[in-house]
Amino acid sequence: MNYRHAFHAGNACDVAKHALLVDLLQALRAKPKPFRVLDTHAGLGSYVLASSEAERTGEWRQGIGRVADVTEGPLADYAAMVRAAGFPDIYPGSPDLARALLRPEDRLVLCELHPEDHATLRARYSRDRQVAVHLRDAWEAVEALTPFPERRGLVLIDPPFEKPGEFDRCAAALARLRHRFRAAIIACWYPIKHRAPVRAFHAALQEAAVPDCITAELLLREPTDPSRLNGCGLLVANAPHGFAGRAEAILGALVPRLADAAPGAGCAITRITPE
Ligand code: SAM
Repeated sequence: MNYRHAFHAGNACDVAKHALLVDLLQALRAKPKPFRVLDTHAGLGSYVLASSEAERTGEWRQGIGRVADVTEGPLADYAAMVRAAGFPDIYPGSPDLARALLRPEDRLVLCELHPEDHATLRARYSRDRQVAVHLRDAWEAVEALTPFPERRGLVLIDPPFEKPGEFDRCAAALARLRHRFRAAIIACWYPIKHRAPVRAFHAALQEAAVPDCITAELLLREPTDPSRLNGCGLLVANAPHGFAGRAEAILGALVPRLADAAPGAGCAITRITPE
């Protein structure tokens, strides 16, 4: 396991993922019944932006560094949460964002396989009775820890895409989980380096007839150079009511801040499979 999210936390694609994640969590909070969140690839939970890892790449400066000052419009809630978490010293990962939106009756389950990152994550939430932290393989955990006892909630699948076959593993996990736990909202992040693997991922979901999948994609530039992270997508299955419109507004507000008016920059919300 070579990937460490500390080098990339708060970059443009993290910002897109987390701004959409906040909207999905707010939709779950809008109903009184308890919910659970399973974050299958959790990372550290929170990131120090003065760390040597974050300083080495400086990626956060072209990401959250351009968004954290927003106080109005579709990014306002997310940006306020980032400031409340301690920006510009700290950037909250998906576990901290989810934790901040739990009510007392809600639960958060985190899986992280990197031993050091798992130890950091476990220590972070060791006194928190609403959070469970597992040193566990995501692909095994997504089977073992679902469906939730609450019967509602969100599964976030956010692999590092450092080894081949990650798109296939995501498609297979989505298909099985959608079948076994229809009530869950499932969000799966993916990189857009070039178009071919993304098209194949969407085609796999269509061939498996995984119901009710939409994608929210942000392009920082035309995805022609596969050695660069040119954008990202969030595949959302069983999206809450009105999510597509809100996602368009969120990503539309990010494009002018993150994409430097590069050719091919933009965003798109696309229905991949029917309800
Ligand atoms: N979800 C986090 C966030 O948004 O703040 C970022 C997660 S990062 C992209 C991916 C994480 O998955 C890394 O910390 C990596 O160590 C972990 N990981 C990689 N393979 C895994 C596996 N099979 N099971 C669980 N965690 C894994």
